[in-house]
Amino acid sequence: IVKVESVSKSFGPTRVLEDVSFQVEPGSVVAVIGRSGSGKSTALRCIDRLETVDQGRIEVCGHDITAPGLNLQQLRRDVGIVFQSYNLFPHMTVEQNVMLAPRLVLKRNRAELRHGADAALAQVGLADKAGAYPSQLSGGQQQRVAIARSLAMSPKLMLFDEVTSALDPELTGEVLRVMEKLAADGMTMILVTHEMAFARKVADEVVFMHRGKVWEHGPAAMLDAPVTEELHNFVGSSL
Ligand code: ATP
Ligand code: MG
Repeated sequence: IVKVESVSKSFGPTRVLEDVSFQVEPGSVVAVIGRSGSGKSTALRCIDRLETVDQGRIEVCGHDITAPGLNLQQLRRDVGIVFQSYNLFPHMTVEQNVMLAPRLVLKRNRAELRHGADAALAQVGLADKAGAYPSQLSGGQQQRVAIARSLAMSPKLMLFDEVTSALDPELTGEVLRVMEKLAADGMTMILVTHEMAFARKVADEVVFMHRGKVWEHGPAAMLDAPVTEELHNFVGSSL
């Protein structure tokens, strides 16, 4: 469902991605790990075309996103992305936040919108918070609303960029559990995470990035037997 082929990207003189390649099979979960500045977020942003690449090719859900004729709107429909900051609209209720994109993009009637929003909120365990405002929710609940907002578009692929990094440890678990359930339900996901235990448990494959390159890549079990010194040190430092 995702093919990243020999992608390179620089910001000015700084090479941030160098010959990056990996694939994501439908229904699988790929965890992207690595030190700060190794290029994880940039790689993710390239997959949703929030950044353009200098070299190489990326195919996402059947879209050649490096081609000039790309249908960006369709790509955004197929791919949901959730960031560390959840950016909910404070003056809208939880349900209104979740319905916003489907209302603007998918031409659905009110009842369908409601139904879709409620289903998405149920998926993240917040069916009872539809009428609440973001300020009335904990950080973990707000992040789950942000996930529901993406799910309401029925994406084929979900991207998560360190969605628990801004949360207190006691709120991290509830968000990870939502992601774990999504994975179990068959959602295809790429997640950038510092949660090693979570990556080990939920990811089918792990991509370890170092200095803009895919340094090591394999099944999640590779975390228990790193080949390179860099991954060995990284795993050791994140215990
Ligand atoms: P972190 O774990 O801290 O989130 P990361 O692995 O996600 O790190 P990136 O955000 O992809 O790393 O950044 C990789 C490199 O690219 C860094 O050196 C960063 O300073 C640089 N960089 C990222 N975005 C830009 C930008 N818009 N302009 C210039 N440089 C950038
Ligand atoms: Mg990042």
